[in-house]
Amino acid sequence: MAEPTPMMRQFLEIKERCQDCILFFRLGDFYEMFFQDAEIASRELELVLTGKDCGLAERAPMCGVPYHAALSYIGKLVSKGYKVAVCEQMEDPALAKGIVKRDIVRIYTPGTVTDEQMLSQKRNNFIAAIYEFRNMYGISAADITTGEMYLTSLTVGSTYNHLANEIARFAPSEIIINAQAQSIEKIKNFAGTLGNSYVAPAPEELFEYENGKEHLSDIRLGGDSKTLLPKILKDELAVRACGALISYMEDTQKTHLSDQITANHYKVDEYMAIDASSRRNLEITETLRDKNKKGSLLWVLDKTVTSMGARTLKKWLEQPLIDADAINARLDAVAELKDAFILRSEIREMLCGIYDMERIAGKITLGTCNARDMVSLRQSAGKLPSIKETLSACNAPLLKTLNNEIDSLSDVWELLEKAIADEPPVVLKEGGLIKKGYNAEVDECREASVNGKMWLAELEAKEREETGIKNLKISYNKVFGYYLEVTKSYLHLVPSHYIRKQTLVNNERYITDELKKMEDTILGAEERLTRLEFEVFCSIREYVLAQADRLRATANAVARLDALASYAETADRENYCRPEICTDESTEISIKDGRHPVVEKMNASGEFIPNDVLLDCDENLLLVITGPNMAGKSTYMRQVALMILMAQAGSFIPASEAKFSIVDKLFTRVGASDDLASGQSTFMVEMSEVANILSNATPKSFLILDEIGRGTSTFDGLSIAWAVLEYISHTLKSRAMFATHYHELTELEGTVAGVKNYCVDVKKKGDDIVFLRKMKRGGADGSYGISVAALAGIPKVVTLRAKEILEQLEEQDGGKGSKKPKAKSRNSGAERAEEQLDLLSFTANSVMQDEIISELKEIDVQSLTPIEALNILYRLHQKAEKRI
Ligand code: ATP
Repeated sequence: MAEPTPMMRQFLEIKERCQDCILFFRLGDFYEMFFQDAEIASRELELVLTGKDCGLAERAPMCGVPYHAALSYIGKLVSKGYKVAVCEQMEDPALAKGIVKRDIVRIYTPGTVTDEQMLSQKRNNFIAAIYEFRNMYGISAADITTGEMYLTSLTVGSTYNHLANEIARFAPSEIIINAQAQSIEKIKNFAGTLGNSYVAPAPEELFEYENGKEHLSDIRLGGDSKTLLPKILKDELAVRACGALISYMEDTQKTHLSDQITANHYKVDEYMAIDASSRRNLEITETLRDKNKKGSLLWVLDKTVTSMGARTLKKWLEQPLIDADAINARLDAVAELKDAFILRSEIREMLCGIYDMERIAGKITLGTCNARDMVSLRQSAGKLPSIKETLSACNAPLLKTLNNEIDSLSDVWELLEKAIADEPPVVLKEGGLIKKGYNAEVDECREASVNGKMWLAELEAKEREETGIKNLKISYNKVFGYYLEVTKSYLHLVPSHYIRKQTLVNNERYITDELKKMEDTILGAEERLTRLEFEVFCSIREYVLAQADRLRATANAVARLDALASYAETADRENYCRPEICTDESTEISIKDGRHPVVEKMNASGEFIPNDVLLDCDENLLLVITGPNMAGKSTYMRQVALMILMAQAGSFIPASEAKFSIVDKLFTRVGASDDLASGQSTFMVEMSEVANILSNATPKSFLILDEIGRGTSTFDGLSIAWAVLEYISHTLKSRAMFATHYHELTELEGTVAGVKNYCVDVKKKGDDIVFLRKMKRGGADGSYGISVAALAGIPKVVTLRAKEILEQLEEQDGGKGSKKPKAKSRNSGAERAEEQLDLLSFTANSVMQDEIISELKEIDVQSLTPIEALNILYRLHQKAEKRI
């Protein structure tokens, strides 16, 4: 039987512990990979696959990378969704007895990388943990580089959709989920839509409540931990997810993270809810088609000058607020910065010099920061006093708060200014870290080494003079140390006390006693110097580490200041206005001269036509928008949704005037795309999205529904659209905009409460049409589909034939302009069109029945008084009457 060599035995033992990773196994100056890892790595990294004799029956497939270039290879593998475990030699091979000790020192995974070259500066790199238990979910997400962590739960009544919406908020690059969860496959499919995040089931033990409790008692909480901790610990699901996440991250970093993380517990309804498909459809942070920032709302709004600010702005857009006071606080600050051009320019210029303090603080706590990070920190800290000084002239309360939260860090700046060299190297063990004058011992050693070098120069001159060898020079290499070099043509002049060390083709190398003595002094001083500098650097790092909380708080405030200044900059450049946020019970959403923030920027050559909108929960609940293809219906609806989102994220908006009552949930049903990954057709996706809206929208929600029903036969589609409209009006009472090519739906104005017709104006020019892009009251007089087809370049022979067919169809339909099949609205009087009533009654009745049943179930019959019972009966009867 073949026996593995000791090295291979060690490899196999270590590999056993990291089955899901590609193992980089350190052998001398290389990291080697074996077996399947080698096959994957050679394919993915284009490395040559070789083999190694390891005592086994067959040679083990092997490939390797040089140790100094490993990080870029690891980065490539991680970006492709692999996990990489790095196994190092844990002792000096020269001193080891038998096989060198090796161990895993770090696991690189997509959600836990901390190395700059593997991260995007302007976006967080979140990793999430999900704990699923009977349709309830604990969720935790963290960015290890910035130290932020969030945790929440979705309890009774939640569905997988709610979970997906919450996950989409973080767009994590890696998700761990308890192995027994039912949703693993669904989450894997969903992760594809988030830019291929890596999903890995993790053992149930990792999600033990006690584990979470222990971790949470150890880490910092975003607020007063005395009051917060007991509250958080009651949220069992969140605690389980949080515990698993911290354990997992600690396992990858092979270190404790308690100093590194601040946990923030939140409730999902603290922010505006935006479901996952609406996030994609509205193109908030990236475009739908090619996932580019250019063309997204973030692209228009992001004028931040620091990476921390860019991440904050992105977060704000991803989670708009619902608290009017908090929104107004941001808007007050933006207003002040917008109006004060000089002050804003000064602040932005100073912010420009601030490095990523948040991630530097992260590196300091992880112990991975180098002297260059300290220089960046020094430069950043140097800007803080003037930022504070400039901010002190501001009046907006939020700007005052930020000023208080920014610590000028003068002690840190002073220390780094005095101690750290101006251009230190990246590595920490080669000296050059500490400035002259900071530490007497360092100075002394440095002088000895410098003097030694001067002495060498003098010796070289002296030897040339004495021997007459004009090109004699003193050089150094690691094998012989310092030596004298003489070319062959001068060999006859070499004095007898020179001791020959090496013969090369053109020259000879010698040493002398004098040179060797000096070498000891010089090399001794250099070695001591690098060791000393490293020690001094570590003590400085210790000091800064103790200030990590101040650093983080300051970084956080600077990031918010940058985001506010960016809002102000965009508002000023793009001529945005401040939206009025209603703090009363009003349900109004009104916008004057609103524009689409992205389309107007992309449409560089053409002019963007502004439009007004008025919505409320009364007469203007549901706007039915008709108009030809390409007229601008979708643009109009999206611009309203985007402006609501922008306002609640604290930004000014592209309009001349606007008033908003708070929206709790934003839903969009736009565009149609097959979800092949989950095996759903276009129509099925559309209907699932509509179903999601109908079961979750509230009277405070805002919906845009673009051409629902178009994915099926005309009559089915029309009936569904019709019934949905009625359901929104009667049951949901959510403000909505509804674009459609079913002109029959315009008949609902006046019969279904809250419906108002709008259409996009077009001018006819013979057979052609000119788009005016202006909304006006009323229904459109036609679809002009054939004219638009002609505009799009469909051959004339086809469009002419289409016209003929259209005319024939219209004639069959009764002609005389009555293109509309007869159908009547439910509320239009006694005669009800049977076919649509069936559909409608089915939807409304079943919902109503569900409501009545659940109300009945909740009644505690034993404790009811007769009068209470009568009241309930009366209310239920009223409810049933109204709905049928
Ligand atoms: P369809 O019914 O075919 O989906 P639509 O009515 O929804 O079409 P949009 O997609 O909204 O039309 O608009 C078509 C194009 O018209 C947009 O890409 C945009 O370039 C331009 N557009 C829309 N609204 C305006 C506007 N208000 N001002 C200027 N250009 C506009």
